Amino acid sequence: MYFRYDEPLFRPPAEAYSAIIQATLGCSWNRCAFCDMYSSKKFRPRTFDELKPEIETLAAMYQGVKKVFLADGNAFVLSANRLLQLLEEINRCFGRVQRVSSYALPRDILSKTDDELKSLRANGLKLLYIGVETGDDELLRLIGKGETADSTVEGILKAHSAGIETSIMIINGLGGKRYSQQHAVNSAKVISRVNPKFLSTLTLSMPLGEDHFKEKFRGEFIPLTVVELFEELRTFISLSEVDGTIYRSNHVSNNLNLSGTLSKDKEQLLAQLDRAIALTPRGIYPSSPSML
Ligand code: SF4
Repeated sequence: MYFRYDEPLFRPPAEAYSAIIQATLGCSWNRCAFCDMYSSKKFRPRTFDELKPEIETLAAMYQGVKKVFLADGNAFVLSANRLLQLLEEINRCFGRVQRVSSYALPRDILSKTDDELKSLRANGLKLLYIGVETGDDELLRLIGKGETADSTVEGILKAHSAGIETSIMIINGLGGKRYSQQHAVNSAKVISRVNPKFLSTLTLSMPLGEDHFKEKFRGEFIPLTVVELFEELRTFISLSEVDGTIYRSNHVSNNLNLSGTLSKDKEQLLAQLDRAIALTPRGIYPSSPSML
């Protein structure tokens, strides 16, 4: 059996054992200053006729798989009708999987009605991964996200009302020194308002170089040292008031692995950060090898 993805292909770490169906190619937005994941691709929704034989092939290859992830960048941009057609085919071919998930932008959620979201949930779409990146309106504008803190909260809460859970990503160091404090404070406010099931923090990385990032970032960017990244993260975690949110900071970009339930384990997470801040020499940058 032969199967070929349109590369590059990305999926969240939690979808490592999922069957991946490329419902769309690229990202419909493709403008965020820090993101070059899909810059080599022109966005295109794939037709049901293209996907149907692939779903059949994947179902045969991944017998017994429990989860299905819809790629690429924001597959949830597809209309509810198209997504429902895909979910029905997934359920028909795979049998009922435990959950289907995809990346989404808040506006992809807001463009659907409450009934459409409930219908998607009833057909297995149970989790959306949302790159919130920051809860700070100024920084959202500077990175060109096309969202505000309020639109982000509204979209996430709308998904939650329909029974769809969310996994939220925040980018540590996104605004550099100048915007660090407001980024931490306002991101914590957004997280506290939405109380997601899952939360993860990644660290800003610039695989194409700092100059490339600065060309797209619309403000003054001064990168944070490792200690400053930890301090920003500490402020963010200490101000996030949530209940039951499962938190992970285990992305390859991070300098320190953290995990816990944010309400229950907050003090322990802060103590880990305090220790890291005390033990890490000031003045080293994230590209330096981790000392911890
Ligand atoms: S919406 Fe997501 S995938 Fe698209 S450019 Fe922004 S960060 Fe990248």
